[in-house]
Formats: sequence, C-alpha cells, structure tokens
Amino acid sequence: MEARVILARGRQSRVLEGHPWIYANEIETVEGQYASGDIVAVCDARGRTLGRGYINPASQIAVRLLTRDEREPVDEELFRRRIQEAWDYRRRWVRDTDAFRVVFAEADRLPALIVDKFGDYLVVQFLALGMDVRRNLIVQLLDEIVRPKGIYERSDAPVRELEGLPPRTGFLRGEFPTTVEIVENGFRFLVDVERGQKTGYFLDQRENRAAIAPLMPGARVLDCFSYTGGFAVHCAGYGAREVTAVDASAEALAMVRRNAELNGFDDRIIAREANVFDELRRLEAAGEKYDVVILDPPAFAKNKAALAGAVRGYKEINLRAMRLIPPHGYLVTASCSYHMPEELFYAVVQDAANDVHRRLRLVEGRGQAKDHPVLLGAGESRYLKFLILEVI
Ligand code: SAH
Repeated sequence: MEARVILARGRQSRVLEGHPWIYANEIETVEGQYASGDIVAVCDARGRTLGRGYINPASQIAVRLLTRDEREPVDEELFRRRIQEAWDYRRRWVRDTDAFRVVFAEADRLPALIVDKFGDYLVVQFLALGMDVRRNLIVQLLDEIVRPKGIYERSDAPVRELEGLPPRTGFLRGEFPTTVEIVENGFRFLVDVERGQKTGYFLDQRENRAAIAPLMPGARVLDCFSYTGGFAVHCAGYGAREVTAVDASAEALAMVRRNAELNGFDDRIIAREANVFDELRRLEAAGEKYDVVILDPPAFAKNKAALAGAVRGYKEINLRAMRLIPPHGYLVTASCSYHMPEELFYAVVQDAANDVHRRLRLVEGRGQAKDHPVLLGAGESRYLKFLILEVI
C-alpha cells in the first residue's frame, strides 16, 4: 500500500488551483512507509485523495503529481501514455523544423523531465529524483515512441542540487558525434549537445525567430546575447544587410561563425566577443545606429530575491539599445525569467523609453513556441516574454 501524504488545512490551495507541486511545509503528516522516489497518494486535510506523485523528502518540493485521477495507476503504462501524448501533440503543432522540445516537464504532466529532439537525436534532462530513479524506463519508452538514433543526457542543471542529485551527463543510447545539425525555419544550425548551454540550443525562440522576418529586408541588425546565432542567422536569411552578433562566450561565437558559413551568410554576419553592457555603451559613444536591436539575455532573475537587480539590468540594456535605434527602428526584447512577470517587464521597458524620451509602439507580444506549452495553474511553465516594438 502506498504511503499517504496529508496536506495541512489552509495550505492546499496551490494544488487545488492546478499546480502539481506539494511543498514540504504544506504537509501535515505522512501515513505509511515510503522510500525516496516512491509513488505516494496526496490527500486533503479531510483524507480525500487529490492525486498521486513521486516523493523526495530531501527536496523542498516534496511531491510532484503525475496524476489527479484516482483511477489512474502510476505504472509503466502511465509513462508510456504521457510520452506518446507529448509526441502526438508535437506532431500536430510543430512545423518547419526537425528540432523541438518533445517533453516539457510539468506542462506535459511529466514533472522534471525535459526531452529535446535535435535531428535524429534526443537530449534528456532528469531534474528531480522521482524522474532520475525512473531513467531506464523513460529511455526505453523514448526509444520505442520517438525512435531516435541516439540519446544524450544533460542532467547538469543546477536545480539537481536542490533534489540532492549530482550532475550527470553522457550517452544513454548509442554513441554519436555530439555536434548535430538541425534545420529550423529552413535554416541550418550546428548544435553541440555535449558542451552547449542547457541542452545545446534554445528551442523556445523558434517561432519568435520567424516572427521578425518582416523587419529584416535591408536592415542593419545588432543581435545581443546571440549565443550560437539563432537570431543572427534568421536575420541574414530574411534579408538583413549586416548583422552583428554579440556574446560573452568565445565558444558560442565560434559556433556563430560556423552557422553563418553553413548557411552562406558569412559575408553579412559579424561575431563579436564582448559584454553586452559594455558593448552597448561603446556603440553609443561611437555614434553607431541599428535599424533593429535584439536583446535576448539569460535569466537575470534566477529567483525572487534577485528581482530588483534584474529589473535594473533589464532597464539598462533596453535603455541603451533604444539609444542606438533611429526613429521608426525596432527593438526586439525578451525576458526568459519566470520571476519577471509580464506586466513588470512591459513596465521596465516603458520606463527605459521614458528616460530616453522615446515612444514605443507594440507590434506583437509573444511567448514560447508551441512545443513549450503553458500549464495554467503552474506559473513556472510560462516564462518567456518576447516583444516586438517600434521605437518612434
Ligand atoms: N539569443 C540566443 C540565446 C541567448 S542565451 C539564441 O537565440 O540562441 C544567453 C546568452 O547570453 C548566452 O550565450 C551567454 O553566453 C550570453 N551572455 C550572458 N551574459 C552576457 C553578457 N553580460 N554579455 C554578453 N553575453 C552574455
């Protein structure tokens, strides 16, 4: 008989509103025996079963729900069904690429499991203990359902520490050259799944990269925080006359150059190693102007406590970018911090515009690509803000 986690009265609202996590401090008591990673029943204060999930007493997130259906057993079939559903959803919604997120964790009701597909290969992250202990089953099911040529593990995300898990990387199926070629919106990219950031490439911006096409014909573009050139290559492909990609990582810029070459755009893409904060200042002092400036920084707010500093950071880069944009040029600005709410992000950008006496006209406010769906009630799954603004 599985153990029963009884929630404390008055502390069960998150779960009732649809969130799949139970924090340790929301638990009144646990009835029965269990081991780390076991499936437990979660019950409200009156003993009614709300769902089932896996438990990790070493984590602040004690339980993550896998089901809310009392009749649905958590067995191999459940994981098979969930992965099949995730796969079917992508086949319906994902277009123009052979690289996409196959499983987006909680939003696919597979908490803490990330699976990205790059061409014929998969990259997997097990980000909680309950998933980590089921790694063999997950790999077997991915093999069965997706039929990749190989699977690589990138469980080196810092959140593993909060689960008491060490980082872990390496081949899970097959051995293959770890620089993989993908096609996104008709453009070619090399993805280093072994040494790249996160799983190797930021798939969540795919539809946003396509959305800026109308801005590009003849444009001079500054792509800040370019990483391996996801935006820069699209810009050149959509007709930009010159694109400067700026990033602090030498490895990322080496990949920008390779990706530019791969698409035949090396004559129009310049890769520059610099700190964006310094570079924006320098370009302003030099009197440079760009028809379009793209800002896609890393998450400045990694947690709530970091929000004030993050606001300053976002304001500064947006303000400095606007100074490089002539009237009727465009600012394309993103934030991938879940802790930065959408309204606040708009306010920060607006505040920056006021400081430099410019007006902004919103063309489009966008979010993540459809392979990163948002689970309503689980705010963490809605994290990307992406604004296309005309600077007048
Ligand atoms: N726009 C990219 C993803 C950006 S990820 C894409 O479409 O793929 C964020 C990038 O910012 C990383 O490549 C990281 O190396 C870089 N970075 C972080 N801080 C930086 C800074 N202060 N100056 C320049 N680059 C920075």
